This record gives sequence, structure tokens and C-alpha cells, in this order.
Amino acid sequence: MSSSVPDRNQVLFERAQRVIPGGVNSPVRAFRAVGGTPRFIDRAQGPYMWDAAGQRYIDYIGSWGPMILGHGHPEVLEAVQRAAVEGFSFGAPTEREIELAEAIVAEVPSIEQVRLVSSGTEAGMSAIRLARGATGRSMIIKFEGCYHGHADALLVKAGSGLATFGHPTSAGVPPEVAQHTLVLEYNNVEQIEAAFAQHGDRIACVMIEPIAGNMNFVRAQVPFVARIRELCDRHGALFVFDEVMTGFRVALGSAQSLYAQAIPGFRPDISVFGKVIGGGMPLAAFGTTREVMKHLAPLGGVYQAGTLSGNPVATACGLATLRLIRQPGFFEALGAKTRTLVDGLAEAARAAGVPFVTDSQGGMFGFFFLPELPQHYQAVMTSDNARFNRFFHGLLDRGVYLAPALYEAGFVSAAHTDADIAATIEAAREVMRTL
Ligand SMILES: *Cc1c(COP(=O)(O)O)cnc(C)c1O
Repeated sequence: MSSSVPDRNQVLFERAQRVIPGGVNSPVRAFRAVGGTPRFIDRAQGPYMWDAAGQRYIDYIGSWGPMILGHGHPEVLEAVQRAAVEGFSFGAPTEREIELAEAIVAEVPSIEQVRLVSSGTEAGMSAIRLARGATGRSMIIKFEGCYHGHADALLVKAGSGLATFGHPTSAGVPPEVAQHTLVLEYNNVEQIEAAFAQHGDRIACVMIEPIAGNMNFVRAQVPFVARIRELCDRHGALFVFDEVMTGFRVALGSAQSLYAQAIPGFRPDISVFGKVIGGGMPLAAFGTTREVMKHLAPLGGVYQAGTLSGNPVATACGLATLRLIRQPGFFEALGAKTRTLVDGLAEAARAAGVPFVTDSQGGMFGFFFLPELPQHYQAVMTSDNARFNRFFHGLLDRGVYLAPALYEAGFVSAAHTDADIAATIEAAREVMRTL
């Protein structure tokens, strides 16, 4: 890797940068947070990916979540190939869309109807429009460190105080759009209470990542979620669970099933899905009750549409994926495997005397070079970035591919073998000693 002849990844990265901004089609792929050359992937199979220089990696990104079965599962591949032969896209309804909607509704009791779209961003954006249309209100609440896709109203950070509305986090977002978004601290009950006390009758929805995977891995505490539920009910606001990452990933019933175990009768009002439900194809969804969905076009006045929505190849991929993960014991086995991994990483850190905490649920995990699990974004950002970057590159050099930024979650698939997990822990043990 350190030879003076540029490897093929470097050659491709330079070529890419001439015609693609930053050389990538989604910013985190550029390795800006960790430095170094992004790996251009040639192919993947099971738990492995191979880069353009022929190096194999054990993959803990899984396309940022979708590849819960690993890459190229034979049954999924066959379903996709069969669907592709039948046609790529019709712009007319198909039976497979009903089947996928039925599969989602069957596992998620809060949902009676779903609308399929093509990306998590689109689903999140549409969920907010629906919440605003159904309530006749403009204001939305989100939490710092939660990512809900890149719709204008959601690219907002906290203002200077609770009374002030958000500021755009991206150039090109008009302040007039951001001013309807209030950004609060995750897991802060007092702030959400104060926000409802002040603005209760103007709030259309509260949107949350129930396990925030876009600030590594931070769980919304049960009393926090319970309190938001009560406040939304009292003030007529809708509670939106963004399960694009957690949906069908942390449990078959998604993160909301875990909160329903802890809070009797708990349900969010609107749920947003993506990633796993497409099995690696562009597919996402938002779902809610018939009562709320009746506001959506063509039934109601909230407009939403898509040329490729419910695409027949994507729905085949998603359906085959859901069919496999619905098998009894799937999530128990996946959860146990993920725990073996994070316990091994923690043990490696302990042996090396490196401060380290970790958490996981189902096939999703996170870790921090911190003495205790952070509860909100500011605490996440006290992590030792330089140490994370050394850890990341140490593992990458040893053929283990973690997310290239400390604020991203990790993913284990059903295809990871015990030997893969053991090799990963062994590599971590070596690297931890050098941190
Ligand atoms: C990935 C993600 C999104 C955005 O989905 P895209 O398909 O990348 O547009 C939204 N919300 C959460 C929680 C996500 O993890």
C-alpha cells in the first residue's frame, strides 16, 4: 500500500475527481474525515468486498445498512434476475408493490398503509409534507445529530437558544425554510417540554432516529420517547420515527417494536423506511394509519409522486430480502453475532488500556473511544477523532472495512462467519496496541 507506484484506487480517484465533484456521489465516501484514498469497489460477495487493487475487506458498512444478508445472496439475486427479465420499469402498478406493502404492514403494527419511494431522503421529505398537510401546521422538531436525508427543511442545526429556530447546515437552504425547524438536544426531556409549552399548537411533527445511527450509535432513552409521545398526543402533533437505518435492521419489528416492549401501547404516528427494505436497490417507504394517509394524493391534497416509485426490480430485491429475514431466529442469531463482535472489540481495547465503549442492537453497532456511552451529539463529538482515524486505517490495512467517520454506525450481516468476526477482533487487538 505504501509503494510509490499509485495503486489502482488512487488512479481511479484522480480520474473520478475530474468528472464527479470530489470523486464521489455521496460525500462520506470520499474519506475526508479519515484521510487517505477511498477504495473503489470492484465486486462483493457475502461479507466481503474487493477493491480495484484486488484487496479483500470484511465489510462492516453493508452499503450503510441495506446488505443485511451479505452481498449477492443467491435467493435475492435470483429474484432480481427474474424481475429484470420481466421488465425494468412500467410506470403502472404491479402486484409486487402490494406484496411489499403487505410485508411491511405485517411486521409493523403502527402502519396500515405505505407509499413506496426511491430513497430515504424522499421518504423523509414526504413524511414531513404529509405531517404538515394532515395537521395544517408548519413547524417541525428534530434533534441535533439525527440525519433524515437532505431535504431543505431537515438540513438544519440548532439556533443559539431554545426560543430561536434553526439555521441551515448547508449552503443553498433558504433561512425561510429552516425557520420552521426547531432543533433540540437528543435525549433532553426538559427541552422538548419547553418547546411544546412554547409552540405546542404550531408543531406539525417531531421527527427522530429512535437509535441514532448518524451520530454513531445513540439510543433514544425510553422516558424521552415516552414523553415525546405524550406531548405529541396532548398537542395534536405527529410523532415520526425515521427508521431508514433501524427498520428491519435492529429487529424484525424495527426499533419501534423495542420501544413498544418498554412503553405499553407505544406507536409512532408515521414511520420512514429505506435501506434494508430495498435490499441494496433504490427503495424506501413511509407509512402510517389510513386516517393520516387519506391526506396523500390521489386521495387528498398532499402531493407526492415518483416515476420509479415501487420499481419492479427494486421491489423484487426488497421482497426477497424481507422473506429471508422473516425466518424464525434470524434476528436472534444476527444480534448474537454482532454482540460477539463488539464484546471482542471492547476486550481488545481493555487489554490495550484504551478507553472504549460500545453498544449494539440486532445487526447494527457503534463504538466510541470514550469512557461512557454519549447521550447526545455534543457528547459524541468529544470523541478522539485522531485515535478513531488511526483505528480505522489500521483495520483497513488489515482488510477490515469500517465506516470512514467516527459518527457513523456499523453493520453486521447474516453472511459474516464466526471466523470473520474472530479475524476482525484479532486485527483490532493488534491495532489497539498501537493507539
Ligand atoms: C440513510 C438515512 C436517510 C437517507 O436515506 P437515503 O436513501 O440515503 O436518502 C434518512 N434517514 C436515516 C436515519 C438514514 O440513516
